[in-house]
Amino acid sequence: MSDADTMVDSRRRDTQPASSGDTAGQDRLSVRRFRRAILRFAKEHARHFPWRHSNDPYEVLIGEILLQRTRAENVVGTYSEFLKKWPTPDRLARSSPDEISACLRPLGLTKRGPMIYRLGLALDDLGRTPSAPEELLPLPCVGPYTASAVAVFAKGRNLPLVDRVIARVLRRYFGLPAVRRPDADAELIALANELVKSGRAREIWSGVLDLAASVCKSRPCCSECPLRRNCLSATT
Ligand code: SF4
Repeated sequence: MSDADTMVDSRRRDTQPASSGDTAGQDRLSVRRFRRAILRFAKEHARHFPWRHSNDPYEVLIGEILLQRTRAENVVGTYSEFLKKWPTPDRLARSSPDEISACLRPLGLTKRGPMIYRLGLALDDLGRTPSAPEELLPLPCVGPYTASAVAVFAKGRNLPLVDRVIARVLRRYFGLPAVRRPDADAELIALANELVKSGRAREIWSGVLDLAASVCKSRPCCSECPLRRNCLSATT
C-alpha cells in the first residue's frame, strides 16, 4: 500500500461543519447523477467493517474514534478487542487510561487512552450514549465530524458529512476549488446538504468513503472509476 493510499484512509480529522449552508451551487442534475452513481457504487462495492453493522451509538462512536488517524482495514482487530474488553460505557469507566492505551498501541493511538477513559466516565455519568450531535459534541474525543458521523451511521440521520477525504471526492467530481478547509467551505457544505436532502445519507457517505479508499485516492485511478463519465476532474 502506498503512502498516498495511507493518506486516503487517514481521514478522520474532525472537520465537520458546525452548521450547514443554504443551497448547493451545483445544478440539480449533477447532484442527482452523483447520488445515483454513488448509491450504485455503495451497493456493489461496500466494504464491510464491524462498526458498519451496528446501530448502537457507543459501538459506532468507538469505531469513529479509532478511525480518526488510521486506515479502516487496520482498525478492525483493535476495534473488536476494544469492544470485547469494554462492551459498554460503564465497563469502560471501570478500566484505566493505561489499559486503554495498551489496547490502542497497535494503532499508534496510545496518547488517546486518557481521553477515551474520560469519555467512558462521561458516558457512564450520562447513563447512555447519545446519538444527537449536540449531545455528543461536549464529550471528550468528539469533534463535529465524529458527532455527525455517529448520528448518520448509528441512527440514519440525513446530515452532511465533510471531512478532508469526502471533500476530496466531492471537489473533484463537482469541480469545486479547494480554497479553504472543508469545514469552512460554504459551497462544499451546501453541496453535502443537497446530496442527502432526499435521504440515504448512511449509504451515500459510506459510498463516498469507499470510493475514496478504492479509486478516488490521493492519486486517483480515474480509468477504473464508475463515476468518471460525469466527473469534472476525470483524467481519462
Ligand atoms: S473520475 Fe477520478 S477524480 Fe473523478 S471521482 Fe472518479 S477517481 Fe475521483
